[in-house]
Amino acid sequence: MEDLGVDVLLLSVGADLPYFTGYTAMPLERLTMLVLPRVGEATLVVPALEVPRVEERPEAFMIRPWGETEDPVAIVAGLAGQPATAAIGDRSWATFLLGLQEALPKTGFLAASRVTGPLRAQKDAAEIDALRAAARVVDSVAVAMRERPFAGRTEADISRELVERMLEGGHERANFAIVASGPNAASPHHEAGERVLQQGDSVVCDFGGTMAGYCSDITRTFVVGDLRADLADIYDVLFRAQEEAVQAARVGVTCEAVDAAARSIIAAAGYGDYFIHRTGHGIGLEEHEDPYLVSGNATPLAPGHAFSIEPGIYLPGRCGARIEDIVVATESGPERLNEAPRELAIVG
Ligand code: ZN
Ligand code: ZN
Ligand code: ZN
Repeated sequence: MEDLGVDVLLLSVGADLPYFTGYTAMPLERLTMLVLPRVGEATLVVPALEVPRVEERPEAFMIRPWGETEDPVAIVAGLAGQPATAAIGDRSWATFLLGLQEALPKTGFLAASRVTGPLRAQKDAAEIDALRAAARVVDSVAVAMRERPFAGRTEADISRELVERMLEGGHERANFAIVASGPNAASPHHEAGERVLQQGDSVVCDFGGTMAGYCSDITRTFVVGDLRADLADIYDVLFRAQEEAVQAARVGVTCEAVDAAARSIIAAAGYGDYFIHRTGHGIGLEEHEDPYLVSGNATPLAPGHAFSIEPGIYLPGRCGARIEDIVVATESGPERLNEAPRELAIVG
């Protein structure tokens, strides 16, 4: 905060608040906001009816409950003082920011992720353990799916199975379960639908959830029945690109260099125009957070950075494939948290 000239952090819904306080605010029209000045005590402004849910941590913050007829924006503005610069949580509702801008006309606002992003990006040992435990669950789901029938089932049916298996495996929440088959596999974020899986389809399964607060995220590609020659060729390129990018993810290497490691292999094979997204994203309390592995991000990897490596190749109207693992940068090199086989799974 001092480096950025931020006088006060204002954190509401989103992952910054639980990161610092252990308390997750409900995404409601009633304002919950932590007022954390650079100097002085932090105060959690919280609707009175939600106080029973707050675990008190007097060493970290005080609680200021507000009743139904009070104005929480005025309370926050009063606690904030007259800051020159306030950093407000990126996921805070616009209506509250607009109210605060009116209440604090001389204050400049910036996104709290400027302060919190780099802190949250570097995981400590307990956080890495949590990510590893979550990764084990989706690994076992990916392994189990290699033995399951695909042909004749709908994408939605497979997606439901992925969700059920994540929950059975100990995830408290399934966040998404993309199942993209045949031509649909050319759409990276395809929503599983009623398409029935057919012989020769590639099926991209990208799924993840939350366990003990931390996220999992894995992608494996399956082939129904016979493997077509064109798909085998694409997958071979993709497999090498993913491996190279993982090996490139060393402490001190920039995020964009990791992206380039995957992209250069795919481009050299002639598929550069069909790798239409960044190579990866940080992961932690949120599925997508700092650091982003994308051209233009010159941030060097540091120990504890945890992120996905997920190159893909998408041929419109035809097929697609993606391989995704979560990787942690450590002093002794990249550590993959996902260990499920990455080879194409030929399923019935
Ligand atoms: Zn994605
Ligand atoms: Zn994913
Ligand atoms: Zn991902």
